[in-house]
Amino acid sequence: MRFARSLALGLALACAAPGLAPTARAQSVAAADESLAALRASDTRILSVGTRLAVANAPFCKSTENAIGMTLHHIGQYGDDAAARATFGFARDYAVLALVADGPAAQAGIRADDAIVALNGVELAPPPGELAEIDQPAAYRPVAWADARLRTALDAPPVTLTLMRGGETFDVILTGMPACRSRFELRPSGKYGASADGDIVGITSAMLGFMADDDELAAILAHEMAHNLLEHRKRLNDAGIQRGLMQQIGRNARLTLATEIEADRLSIWLMANAGYDPGGAVRFWTRYGKQHGKGIFSAPTHYRWKKRVGLFEEEMARLAATTTGQHGRVPPLLAAPLRPLE
Ligand SMILES: [Zn+2]
Repeated sequence: MRFARSLALGLALACAAPGLAPTARAQSVAAADESLAALRASDTRILSVGTRLAVANAPFCKSTENAIGMTLHHIGQYGDDAAARATFGFARDYAVLALVADGPAAQAGIRADDAIVALNGVELAPPPGELAEIDQPAAYRPVAWADARLRTALDAPPVTLTLMRGGETFDVILTGMPACRSRFELRPSGKYGASADGDIVGITSAMLGFMADDDELAAILAHEMAHNLLEHRKRLNDAGIQRGLMQQIGRNARLTLATEIEADRLSIWLMANAGYDPGGAVRFWTRYGKQHGKGIFSAPTHYRWKKRVGLFEEEMARLAATTTGQHGRVPPLLAAPLRPLE
């Protein structure tokens, strides 16, 4: 069983840019045995570090959106309605789970646990037919629907959100701030893992718990965000890459490894532009590699940790040799056009 367990961990950690199925929050919350308050603290931390990365690098991103620094949730994503209501209120089905402390939503007066009534004057309630179309676990579809609605609305600001607090209903006006197009989510799970699906960056609660500081967290989020910014999922699909066990061999493995190297290189620049210490990547992988052994890193799609650390150090030297422009340092991988993988 020990062997089976370490193999599972290894596969989980093998950063799953291509094709990790989204985790059902409702199912995982119960399995992860986390308190709901701790869940909010974790979500807030991920949102805060992720938003800082996305906003700071917006001048270099091809695809941007207006971020407001806020994570929603829906009563239906919790297995235990009563516990969720006791912790979060939920005067309506949608409410504010997490906020970036000084982000646009917080500055507009929104607080955690404000219930969300309407978006641009239209009641926030998903038509059942639309939920069935969403490629997410059922419990997570309502929040994914609302999140997409809000993001789309923010593409044409200002947006009016009607909220409810203490029985009172009120409106706030939001415009957001330019950010690289990427979302950041906690995946409650006891397994170490992080993922990027082309749009959303996910990190498990176990992985989050391993972070010594926000520089290390930024390293993991920046790596996954880099997969999204470099459109790795789409480019691997375009190249005809096979997933699953077939991804571990031959051309599939070689092209997947190429995307991992790109994500590692770009992550250093994303971190530096956001004011994080890129050395966080070196520290995280050194500590993680030493504690978790070489087995985890033996997949042909990923470098082993020592080689990975060498790559980070090489990229940090490249970064140090450039000058800082008005918006930071231009990441070479974002300045170049995205070419087909071959
Ligand atoms: Zn990766």
